[in-house]
Amino acid sequence: MTNSTPEDVPGLRLETIAVAAGRPHGPGAPLNPPIVAASTFEAGGAGEYSRGDGTDSVRALEAAVAALEGGERALAFASGMAAISAVFDLLDPGARVVVPDDSYQGVATVVADGERRLGWEVMRLPTADTDAWLAAIEGSDLVWVESPSNPMMEVADVPAICAAARAAGVRCVVDNTFATPLLQRPLDLGATASVHSATKYLGGHSDLLAGVIVTDDPALALAVDHRRTYGGATIGTLEAFLTLRGLRTLPLRLGRAQANARTLAARLAEHRAVTRVRYPGLEGDPGFDLARRTLAGPGAMLSLETVGNARSADIRVSRLRLIRAATSLGAVETTIERRAKLVGQEHIPPTLLRLSVGCEHVEDLWADLDQALNGLVSDSEAER
Ligand code: PLP
Repeated sequence: MTNSTPEDVPGLRLETIAVAAGRPHGPGAPLNPPIVAASTFEAGGAGEYSRGDGTDSVRALEAAVAALEGGERALAFASGMAAISAVFDLLDPGARVVVPDDSYQGVATVVADGERRLGWEVMRLPTADTDAWLAAIEGSDLVWVESPSNPMMEVADVPAICAAARAAGVRCVVDNTFATPLLQRPLDLGATASVHSATKYLGGHSDLLAGVIVTDDPALALAVDHRRTYGGATIGTLEAFLTLRGLRTLPLRLGRAQANARTLAARLAEHRAVTRVRYPGLEGDPGFDLARRTLAGPGAMLSLETVGNARSADIRVSRLRLIRAATSLGAVETTIERRAKLVGQEHIPPTLLRLSVGCEHVEDLWADLDQALNGLVSDSEAER
């Protein structure tokens, strides 16, 4: 067995693939791919310049993510936005694009730029309105899905949308950042590609920026590889090493964070200072049924709205002692952010707080949230 790779062993579960894929193998091989700190390589080998060819560290990460997503080819990028932009950059002037009306703010910006500069015809659809999505697919050049959505936590019927896009011969790309391949494998459902901000759950420690595209479509792989090489958005070797190191514990981290999120969502929904919780694992949530049907679990992201106004929500956040007010998500530590404060996010309810639930003890998280929410904030106090 010394020379067999995990990729050769049929039927491995995702938890095993996360641990085993992308490792060097053979007698004397290190168990972890080395950090190959080289921009250039002596001529005549497989790769000569790491902007286009990557390094062993990069290829190991790509092999592992491709195995987890069940895809032919993964390409790692310098950030999630670099990966996302590589896909949108392929669209011609006048292209017709279907996107969620609550897409991640970076995607919304890229799409608005394309609309203004290149005359893209953009259809922005409510994530959960499956009929609208199915009606919009025919004649489109790109269907972009994000589920669950950031930060509204809407759930899309990813299987139905991917199947319809495939039947219509339309490229369909799923941003799988929130779900991760553990909860949703878009390529199995017919998507052309699955895209990640690997900065989030795949890396999992808030210590790097990375992005990945996984696809079974050789033409798309070639095209985004070209964009990566000539856009110069190749992932750094150290970032690739760290992302792969983080990936090893993804199932453990996500399992714990999801269990924490379930508990917190249920308690927050009963809290007198909370007016609304959105979490696809919460019975009664608009996304509950779809999530149960389309995802292997509801994940570890949730949002809550609080009594009062934006200022009082900010005051509550400032009272947190353990949970950090920080953007980004998907790490071992719990973070919170009032998303409507960001430019271009005016459609988000003013008091909505996005909570990225981490791996701490759930009772410590609850104690912190409870004390921060309980401090009475009247509107007059908030307006001072
Ligand atoms: N997609 C989603 C769902 C995100 O939340 C983010 C970042 O927050 C991105 C893409 C962009 O990734 P990055 O920040 O790694 O460029």
